[in-house]
Order: sequence, then structure tokens, then C-alpha cells
Amino acid sequence: MAGRIRDDDIAEVREKARIDDVVSSYVTLKRAGGGSLKGLCPFHDEKSPSFNVNPSRGFFHCFGCSEGGDVISFLMKIEGLSFGEALERLADKYGVVLRREDGDAAERPRGPARGRLIEAHKVAQEYYAEQLGTPDALVARQFLGQRGFDQASAETFGVGFAPRDGEALLRHLRGRRFTDEELVTAGLVKRGRSHYDAFRGRLLWPIREASGETIGFGARRIFDDDRIEAKYLNTGDSPIYKKNTVLYGIDLARREIARSSQAVVVEGYTDVMACHLAGVPTAVATCGTAFGDDHARVLRRFLHDHEEFRGEVIFTFDGDAAGQKAALRAFGGDQNFVSQTYVAVEPDGLDPCDLRLQKGDAAVRELIATRKPLYRFVLSNVLTRYDLDRADGRVDALREAAALVSSIRDKSKVDAFAREIAGMIGVDVDDARAEVRRAAARPASTGRSDHRDSRRRTPETDAAAGPQRPQLPSLRDPRFSIERETLKIVIQHPGAVGRVINGIGPDDFSHPVYRGVWEAIAAAGGPAAGADDSGWSTRVRFGAVDPAISSAVSELGVEPVLTPSTPEPGYVAKHVYRLQELTTMRRIADLKSRLQRTNPVEHQTDYNKMFGELVALEQHRRTLRDQQVAAQ
Ligand code: ZN
Repeated sequence: MAGRIRDDDIAEVREKARIDDVVSSYVTLKRAGGGSLKGLCPFHDEKSPSFNVNPSRGFFHCFGCSEGGDVISFLMKIEGLSFGEALERLADKYGVVLRREDGDAAERPRGPARGRLIEAHKVAQEYYAEQLGTPDALVARQFLGQRGFDQASAETFGVGFAPRDGEALLRHLRGRRFTDEELVTAGLVKRGRSHYDAFRGRLLWPIREASGETIGFGARRIFDDDRIEAKYLNTGDSPIYKKNTVLYGIDLARREIARSSQAVVVEGYTDVMACHLAGVPTAVATCGTAFGDDHARVLRRFLHDHEEFRGEVIFTFDGDAAGQKAALRAFGGDQNFVSQTYVAVEPDGLDPCDLRLQKGDAAVRELIATRKPLYRFVLSNVLTRYDLDRADGRVDALREAAALVSSIRDKSKVDAFAREIAGMIGVDVDDARAEVRRAAARPASTGRSDHRDSRRRTPETDAAAGPQRPQLPSLRDPRFSIERETLKIVIQHPGAVGRVINGIGPDDFSHPVYRGVWEAIAAAGGPAAGADDSGWSTRVRFGAVDPAISSAVSELGVEPVLTPSTPEPGYVAKHVYRLQELTTMRRIADLKSRLQRTNPVEHQTDYNKMFGELVALEQHRRTLRDQQVAAQ
């Protein structure tokens, strides 16, 4: 970059680019006395005008939000430009040649002036719009008609048609004294062996800046013999067009986005049209690229997000896998954005254009109105992967949900989210809070990737995973000590266990390995079969298909039982009743969790039925406890 631009050139821009002229393309100004002009502030939401422009002094000021400055800072703020970019745009528009301090030559190192590229697009847009009325454009008009767009809406959006001939626009623009270099730089014309139109035989949407100036086109394939297969083509990046920041429809939506502090992001050009026509005037779309952080920055600017972000951004995602993935990606993006982001999902998977076509304007408005917070959408997608009726499913679900919630930077939201996941999963709020704290304490990188590994580890996939099957729990793990001791008694003293053992089944073993051991025991005829058969425990061992189970059988067969002599009937009974009590406690916890997730008003019958079961289980648990006391 050469030296700084000469001060007198900057002064000339300030003088020639009249502030009332520049502001007028964004704000409707009215006389306010004393030579001042007044309008509704484009930088904050207001009902009565407090935005003032003083043309003679060349500055603006808003008494509502205290924004103020000169013509250059106005353009910087409203278009999100740097000082140099804003200066250059104004210089182009008002015919000021910018010179640098260290060079006396007038500099223009980057090819054609911005103003020329804008002008070429203006002429091209008018030309294309005119072509939409020609006989050749019948297919294009049919395409619009089939999607519920009439001539008036085509005109509002400036929709056009690129002739199939391939040089029509080139000839037209050459006739208007544009050079081939200007047209190639603008992206309107391409250079091969000769020059030809960038778009041929396609339906075109002009992509405009907030100011309404066309800077590029989106082009849809409409002819079966189109040599280019891509359904949509877009202008490539140029000095005036940057695909990572352009938002289709922003020119029409800008004012309403600022006023309502709400923006709707849809997928395509026809969706933007459908939304605006259906009464959702805040709709925009990205052009041929996914919504990224740069787009988020642009939108936040139009939402007039100063220090804290208060606006609302609504994405219409498909409810399908792709949509869920997109939502998850958005969740991982700009975090300030996330807590203000909403998702509108059409249950039948219709995009706004089809929705309007099939169910009318009101259905589109309804779709947007029934938005839900992105985090809730993402969390409920995550939770559907777990069986919340099982304690281990809830533990895994809570861990994953807590990791997502802890990644939200807006800490003021975290507690509310923790409360929400507690309700969604059916666990105590304190447990959810503690899990979120634990997740936050884990190092972001390793915590996240470990977490991702375990994400899909449900009991079903574990069983299928083979070598990854959980090992025998540690001897010291108190959660499984009763299961372990009971199995040891059964394997080592099958003749001593008596009939009391008939009361237990595989569900009494919460660890998958112990459950497998019990199943192997049952398959070998149960302990009764082993009472007088010295080869029984060997049969149990070899009957187990899974090596983890058979090795557990041998381990449990040699580890000393925790009683010095052959187990007494009371010792066995105490363990069996305790095991059953633990099973009952798990069922009580599952039921309480389901009750917590059930709305007693909406699902009164279910709720009452579960409540009845809960009372019965509590009673059963008391009986088991009494039996343990009696067994001693
Ligand atoms: Zn203001």
C-alpha cells in the first residue's frame, strides 16, 4: 500500500459528497427548521425521528442513540466499511481523484473504478429485466409463475433473463461505452478465445447492496440443454462483490430488520421473494455459499447491534439431517450470535417458497412466528439419540447437553439453559448445573473431542462394538459391589443359594458384563443345575460367547466370597433382596424422570398412571428393605 491519501483530497470528498445526498439513499429526510433535516434513525429502532442531518455543516447526529459523524463515518457505519473503503466509494461516486502523499501521480492500481463496475451492473440489470418480457424468456416466466410470482413481484425484485445467444449483453454494454476490461472485472463477461456473457439462457436475480445498487447476479438453470449443469450460478468475487458478505434481499429488508430487530435467513432467492410477498419483510439469503461468520457480522450491523447483541436472527432450516447439521454448525459459530439465534422448522420440510404455494401467505408468517431458540433445537436433536427412560442414557445425554451449554459464552444464559436441560432430560436442576460446571472446567479442545468420541456410545452400539465392550468394573466400584458379590455366591456355591435366587433376573444387573454373566448362568440351567454338578461353572464359562463374559466368570469364580464360611441362607437372602431393592430404586428414578418430563395438564391420564406406579414401587422397595432386616 502506498502512502496515505492527501488531506486536501479527503477534504474534497467531504465537500462534494453532500451528506444529505448520501444519507437520503438510506433514510427518508424531512425539513426540520434551521436548515436541518430529520428522519428515523437507521442505527436504532425508533418511532419518532431523532436522527438529524445538518447539510451546511456536513454532519449527522442521533439524539436517540448518540451516533454521529460526517459523511465518511456515516457510510462506514451503514455499510460496514473501513475508512479507506468508504472514502474510495465516495470519491468514485462524486468524481474525486484520490492521490497519495508520496506519489504525485493519480493512482488507480486496482483496475476499473468501482463506480464503473456499479454502473455496468445497473445497465446490465435493466437490460436483463427487459429481456424477461421477450418471447425467448417464456420458460423463465413459466418458472416464476409456477412458483407463485407474478409480473409485479418479478419487477419488485428486478428479476431478469439472460438471452441464450451468449454475446447479447456484451454487445449491449459495449454500445454503452464500457470497456471489455471493465466488464470482465465486473464479472458480467468472461474471456476465453473471445469475450462472452457470463450468464446465458438463465433466469437472473440481481444481488444488491443495502443501498440498492446491483453488484452481482444469481442465475438459475431453466433450459434442459444448458451446457452448465449447476442449478445456480453466482457472480464470482470481484472488487464490488464478496460472496462471504453479500445477503440477497438486504436492500429490501434493511429498514425492516433495523426497525424490528429481527432478520430471517432463508435458503434461496425464491424463498426471499416468497417471504417478502407473504409479509415477512426481514428475509435475506446467502448467495451460493453457507451462512458464515462474515454474514453474521453484516447482519449484526443491520440489526444495530452496538455493544450487546439484542436482535433476533431466525434461520429456516430443514428438519432433516442436513438441517440439523447446519444448525449444529451455526451453534459452533459466532457465539454472541448463537444465544440470539432461532430456528423455524416446517414440519413437512417445505421451504418458504413451496409453503406459500401450498398453504398460503399466512402459513409462511406462522412458520416464522413459531420459531424456537437454536440451542433448544440443537439440544432436542442431541437428546433424541439417547434413551431417556434409562439411567445410563440420561447420564450420557446430560453429559453431552452440558458440554453444549457450557460452550455458550453468554454466561448469563447458562443457568437458564441448565434448568432447561434438566427439564428436557428429566434430572435434578442441581445435577444439570453441576454437570455444566464440570463441562466448563474441562479443557475446551480435549474435552470436546473426547466428548465427540463418546457421543454415540449408546448401550446398543457398545454391544456391537465387540472389543470396545466395557471391562469388568473395578473391585472398588461400590455401585456394582452387590451385583458382584451375588454372582460370586452363585458361581462358587450354587448349592447354597436356595430358592430365594429365583426372584432375580437379568435386569437386576445394571453392569452389562454382570448382566451377561447372569445370562450365561441362566443358559446353563441356573444355580439349581449346579447344585450337584461339579462341571457346572465350567459350562457357564464356555457357554458365554463373549470373551469378556467368560473371563468375568473365571474371575468371579476365584475371588473369595466376603464371608468366611459357606454362605448362610441369610447372607444370600440379604444380597438378593438388596439387589432387588437397587433395581427398584433404578425403576423409581426412571419413573420420576419420566414424570418430570410429562406435563400433568396435557397428559393427565399418563401422568396419573405413572404416579400410581411410583406409589406401588415405593411400597415394594419398603418391603424389600424389611426382608433384608429380617434375613439377618
Ligand atoms: Zn439513533
